Amino acid sequence: MSFLNRINYHALLLSALFLTASSVTGALNYTVAPTDTLYGLSRLYEVPLNWIIRANNLESEIIRPGQNIEIPVNGIHSLEVRPGDTLSALSMEFNVSQEELRRINNLDTESLKIGQQLKVPSPVPAGTYRVLPGDTLLAIAFHFGLTVDKLRMYNNMNGDVIHPAQLLIVKAPRPEGHEVGSGESLWTIAQRYGLAMSDLIDWNALAGNVIHPGEILALYPGLDRSGILPEPRITLAALPDRRPLKPENIPRPDIPRNGEYYFSYPVKKDQPNDSYWESPDAPAAVDYRRSRQVLELFQTETRTLPALSTALKGWHIVIDPGHGGLDPGAIVTVADGNGNPVVITEDEYAYDISMRLHSTLIRHGASVSMTILSPDHHIRNGVDARQTFVHRKNEVYNGASHNENAGWRPVGTIEGLDLRKIIAESEIRSTPSSQKHKGTLFISIHADNTPDLPAGTAVLFDGETDSEANRSRDLASALAPYLGSGSFIRRQPLRVLKNNPADAAVLVEARNINYASNAWALRSSELREQDALMIANGILAWAKSR
Ligand SMILES: [Zn+2]
Repeated sequence: MSFLNRINYHALLLSALFLTASSVTGALNYTVAPTDTLYGLSRLYEVPLNWIIRANNLESEIIRPGQNIEIPVNGIHSLEVRPGDTLSALSMEFNVSQEELRRINNLDTESLKIGQQLKVPSPVPAGTYRVLPGDTLLAIAFHFGLTVDKLRMYNNMNGDVIHPAQLLIVKAPRPEGHEVGSGESLWTIAQRYGLAMSDLIDWNALAGNVIHPGEILALYPGLDRSGILPEPRITLAALPDRRPLKPENIPRPDIPRNGEYYFSYPVKKDQPNDSYWESPDAPAAVDYRRSRQVLELFQTETRTLPALSTALKGWHIVIDPGHGGLDPGAIVTVADGNGNPVVITEDEYAYDISMRLHSTLIRHGASVSMTILSPDHHIRNGVDARQTFVHRKNEVYNGASHNENAGWRPVGTIEGLDLRKIIAESEIRSTPSSQKHKGTLFISIHADNTPDLPAGTAVLFDGETDSEANRSRDLASALAPYLGSGSFIRRQPLRVLKNNPADAAVLVEARNINYASNAWALRSSELREQDALMIANGILAWAKSR
């Protein structure tokens, strides 16, 4: 068994976090104590006895004090096929279906070869992690792309105390909130999420059983209901000329959809390597019409959500999702907990953060427009830690005339960058003055890969003239304090920020994915939501200060 790649990744993780004593990993390297038995360890970590024996090439169950053994606790491990092994026997022995074994090993035959390495998942239930000695809550949260608060919330715990062999829930067992639909009762909602009605009443400080359509209910204790953003409820059925898709046509039978797609699904379930991309399946003009349709639905839906404030009424904000179309932006490869490569493409994530920001700004009363649109997605929640957004080149510039003339897709050339400003100018011009009389902003969202910059969020500004640079510097200074520790502002020559039509323009590098920790964090939908909320809070502070 080789865990070398996992150890390498782990070393990377540690150096990125400056942690010294954590070991979030799949296997426990264990030194046998005098009172230990293999059976006892197998019971404690709930790993089949046979598996520990096979993982360590032991002859029997007898172990001696001081002996080092490996216990494959979490994740996927491999074992060597021995004479007599069959898929059905291994399936029973390790309590995993034959289909699952075939899937994770890419097997298209029943027969196994002696000496072949076969991957077998550990017996922890999906979405859970079994704590190993030396683990900390922070390291586990980081490993699974969560905040410590979220990890506590999922596990209904308060402090930081965890103990080895404890099973932690590391994937949201349910959404944070539920928007009451017509015809729903407290009872049907409790049933749906497997909760007690009394808990729902308690967590939401309800006076009784009466709830109203449109009301948002917290599905965990200790949540501020006004801060819960329900998922957008745009459905495929709401789009009249969508391509008919049947779930069985999606080539990933065991994995739920990777967030919301509208007109077509990617062929791959996640980005397989740094050079892979998928072509658009329609001309730019068609993708533009589709994108507008999805955007309008998204904005309409967002407006049906409860307003968060009116602080941004009179402000028009142009969001410029970095890259897209032919230009993927940065592409980096990091490793997951099993040492498998995870490939992250900047433009897909920048778009996701942009849409999250978009929704929040509208709910604070702003009028919002976009420079780049996607026919396929708005807000996507990653399904599991392995699953990344596929690089699809189907984004379009948000301009009818550009696309109707068999236009070209977004591209990182001078013309391409200037087009973003031209679109911003036209969006600002066509906005009624009641929606822009307080001011206009241009926010470009990126996640760059820059080795010579620190890991914190960068707010970049520039300007053709001193006065333009100063206005944008003011905005950058207002945003930075809200963007987490280590955030900084910096003047950098950026074409999209020079001669920009907005009153102030900045480019936010939400994550510097040159740092493995940031690259890993970027694929967490919760952290992207947090990034978007932080930018929104900065904009709120700016508006308040005017
Ligand atoms: Zn970028």
